[in-house]
Amino acid sequence: MSTYLRNLLHIKKNQRTLDPRLAIYYITTHCNLNCTYCEDFGAQRNADATTSMLDDAKKILKIIRDGVDNLWITGGEPLLAPHLLDLLDYARDDLLFREISLITNGTLLSQNLDLLALVDRLIISLDSLDSSALESVSLKNEQSQNLIKQIEEIAPLQKEKNFKLILNAVITPETLPNMDSLINFCAKNKIWLSFSPQAVNNWIHFDLATSAEYRAFIKNLLERKKRGAPILGSNIYLKTLLDQKPYECYPTIIPRIMPDGWLIYPCLPMEKEGGEVGGRPVNLLNVQSWAEAWQIAKERYGEAPSSCTSCFQQCYAEPSLMQAHPLAWISEYIRTGIDLGTYAPG
Ligand code: SF4
Ligand code: SF4
Repeated sequence: MSTYLRNLLHIKKNQRTLDPRLAIYYITTHCNLNCTYCEDFGAQRNADATTSMLDDAKKILKIIRDGVDNLWITGGEPLLAPHLLDLLDYARDDLLFREISLITNGTLLSQNLDLLALVDRLIISLDSLDSSALESVSLKNEQSQNLIKQIEEIAPLQKEKNFKLILNAVITPETLPNMDSLINFCAKNKIWLSFSPQAVNNWIHFDLATSAEYRAFIKNLLERKKRGAPILGSNIYLKTLLDQKPYECYPTIIPRIMPDGWLIYPCLPMEKEGGEVGGRPVNLLNVQSWAEAWQIAKERYGEAPSSCTSCFQQCYAEPSLMQAHPLAWISEYIRTGIDLGTYAPG
């Protein structure tokens, strides 16, 4: 909360480079799937992928912890990293991150159930319950059946192991028709559910953006959320999915760090674009503190951009919207009691 308030002051002073509320660490960029919507990693890109070493990863997380309270670990597929559990253990017990989230495709979960006790939020990608829709975007039939069964088995463990289970569904033209059954599944199993529209070249897939079914679905989501369905994501984020209006983006709220320690600044889309707008200005293994890394990044690429509307990605949009609209956020919190500080992953 203190970072959130500090950032409000930064905005008031017209400062664009906000303090991070969480950091995303890619423990590996290897993956065992090839989702059709994946623009960054996936097994077809494994030849260029990297995985951190445990000692380096610990040093990287130590520097991150120096400036950031909350951690998301992801990949690629993070369960492919052999030292994942050791690193989670270290992040939790030694570095005392306030909240640790793990984002996984879930296919290797059955061999790694010990991690349930090491995370605050376990986020599993599941885009549909319909095996043919899944087969067309991500999982083979047998994989999807096993995953759904696995999710049903671990959902009742949330209280005992003290973690929150969240499913994240990518809305694609293939998965859109059966989303209602996924919401019902989550309600029945006491699982939170978040949504991100498929991005193509960093913007909402054209077939979705222009489809009446997509708009009807998002309206339905807002309605179902109002009636108590376990939908994660602020109203303002869901309304932005509907209106697709430009919003103020504050990408440095959520910095990303590659497996080998390179910090991406100010955001992934600008890093991909290359040139002078963004990139990988500093390796966290070569600095003594988060403040030093941040300073190097700002000297290299300047302040974060003003009024950038170049892309739409859930993981940048949701926290930016919540930061830019404190009244909407607080009034939703008062109405629902849901801590939107733990916003939707994506
Ligand atoms: S599981 Fe994630 S990283 Fe792997 S291919 Fe799918 S979207 Fe990409
Ligand atoms: S809108 Fe996209 S490109 Fe622009 S700052 Fe945000 S994340 Fe970066």
